[in-house]
Amino acid sequence: MVFKTDSAKKYLKKHGIKPSTIRIKVLQYLNDNKCHPTVDEIYKELIEDIPTLSKTSIYNTLELFLEKNIVDLVSIDDKESRYDIDTSAHGHFKCDICNKIYDFNIDTSGLNEEDIKGFIINKRKIYYEGICKDCLNESNH
Ligand SMILES: [Zn+2]
Ligand SMILES: [Zn+2]
Repeated sequence: MVFKTDSAKKYLKKHGIKPSTIRIKVLQYLNDNKCHPTVDEIYKELIEDIPTLSKTSIYNTLELFLEKNIVDLVSIDDKESRYDIDTSAHGHFKCDICNKIYDFNIDTSGLNEEDIKGFIINKRKIYYEGICKDCLNESNH
């Protein structure tokens, strides 16, 4: 899905967010770059379009997006917060070498949740760490 400015505006309004230029740009960036970017990464990319941009305004925008549940916080990285536009249940794999974060599908029917039966689950966060295939191949050469 590509967010044109018009549809980004509509999407934000639908979620009770007043569409400002920064909010539209951040939403479009997240949608185009599903690599779980950090505030720094978003800033570096958007400063070219919006010279008056500050990191604080990006941070505030993301806080609002989190509050309205249109993004998820990926807390796999303890040094930096990463943001994910995909709020559906999926797992994350972080590579210890290249620090890339990969998405993977989870089949929740296969999880044993017997011990928390009757609880309300708002969010499932599944984190794996290890070495990705790209890095494994690299070390073999
Ligand atoms: Zn890697
Ligand atoms: Zn993800």
